[in-house]
Amino acid sequence: MQKIIKPKKIESLLAKKQDSSKIKEIIAKAETKEGLNIQETAALLQVEDENLLNEIFVTAKKIKDEIYGDRVVLFAPLYISNKCINNCVYCGFKKDNRDLERISLTPKEISQQVEVIEGLGHKRILIEFGEDPKAGSLDKVVEAIETVYASGDIRRVNINIAPVEVDGFKRLKEAGIGTYQLFQETYHRETYKQMHPSGPKSDYEYHLTAMDRAMEAGIDDIGLGVLFGLYDYKYEVLAMFQHAQYLDEKFGVGPHTISIPRWKPASGVKLNDIPAPVSDKDFEKLVAIIRLALPYTGIILSTRENIELREELLDLGISQMSAGSCTDPGGYKEGQSSEQEAKQFETADHRSPDQVIKGICESGYLPSFCTACYRTERTGEDFMDLAKSGDIHKFCQPNALLTFQEYLEDYASQDTKKVAEKLVRQQLDKIQNSVIKEETKRGLEKVKTGTRDIY
Ligand code: SAM
Ligand code: SF4
Repeated sequence: MQKIIKPKKIESLLAKKQDSSKIKEIIAKAETKEGLNIQETAALLQVEDENLLNEIFVTAKKIKDEIYGDRVVLFAPLYISNKCINNCVYCGFKKDNRDLERISLTPKEISQQVEVIEGLGHKRILIEFGEDPKAGSLDKVVEAIETVYASGDIRRVNINIAPVEVDGFKRLKEAGIGTYQLFQETYHRETYKQMHPSGPKSDYEYHLTAMDRAMEAGIDDIGLGVLFGLYDYKYEVLAMFQHAQYLDEKFGVGPHTISIPRWKPASGVKLNDIPAPVSDKDFEKLVAIIRLALPYTGIILSTRENIELREELLDLGISQMSAGSCTDPGGYKEGQSSEQEAKQFETADHRSPDQVIKGICESGYLPSFCTACYRTERTGEDFMDLAKSGDIHKFCQPNALLTFQEYLEDYASQDTKKVAEKLVRQQLDKIQNSVIKEETKRGLEKVKTGTRDIY
């Protein structure tokens, strides 16, 4: 069997440094949007020179503009249960944390949460569970997915839950999930062992091979991630790259998304526990390098990061972000953000989704609530083919505009509407194909007069 992660190779790559002319060559290659190999990615991770770093940042922005345009897809996490039999050192939900109130939502409570989340304008939800044989069983997960879809107008449900067997993944696919996300947390085996002392998650191999099982079950949109702060970020980026490449070789498609959580304070966890803190500067650098190395993989940013950094990271390659998130089950409350004690970790961007959206518009980006690809079965390899040929723009820009117009009609504040009006006109002008542009204009008029869900 092919090994997924090759630690010796990573270590030997990180022992080398390349001169600036070689680095410039790599950056020039990245600019063609063909992606990088692992040697080239490792060379960029070793860059410390300010001028070269700046060139990496400028190139990341250029690639992002060419592939993703100005669009930023928004979503909200929905925590269903914080009961957990694992003891992940970094997490507030860990079994041994006695300070945490344990909550599992009933279907009725899930519906109520969905109503609040929808009221904020969201169309995409990311369901999250702690791992628990009862509260987080497959039956409960499927019930939660079905409840979310049945509760209103949520159009895509992604999930981030503990790995299951192939049959379990088949059930999740049948329930209609979009992306299956699972973070390896750390690819460094020894650190993994220290961070996951007990419970099913302590099995590194079972966790690592989850995506193989998901893909064998026919789930072709999967999301990788690392919890930055546990081990050297350079090692983690290269290992995640190996994982992505392995999946691409084995299944013909790599990860749909990469998430980049950074360790944050949590109940029962002290910040000085962080073994390998990642500075803001290094965090920006790693986001930009992922954008250069894997140009067609979406990068997801959560509200763990603060407003200023979130806005800067948008320029470096982020394509999706959460907004107005609560990390405790039952935390969404009509008209206010949650201050409950049952949180998984602290968030740093406490703005409402409307304020986040206004900020995105002010930075010249276009908030998108689009879920069309998944609903028209443009997933996995089909999605990647469209993205690589550039044809995806034909769908994305109109769909982003139409779903954003829905938001403006149904949920936006007057302040946001004011900022958005000019943005919508500018973004419409960016559609080059005149037929698609006219169609989109007509679509926008229809949305203004009450039609919904056009794509
Ligand atoms: N329980 C499942 C698991 O661990 O795979 C589902 C996901 S868990 C609810 C979501 C993610 O939160 C974890 O994968 C971890 O990366 C992240 N997380 C946990 N504690 C954190 C902390 N203190 N700061 C930032 N992220 C954290
Ligand atoms: Fe449980 Fe997941 Fe938290 Fe680990 S990260 S303690 S598995 S909820």
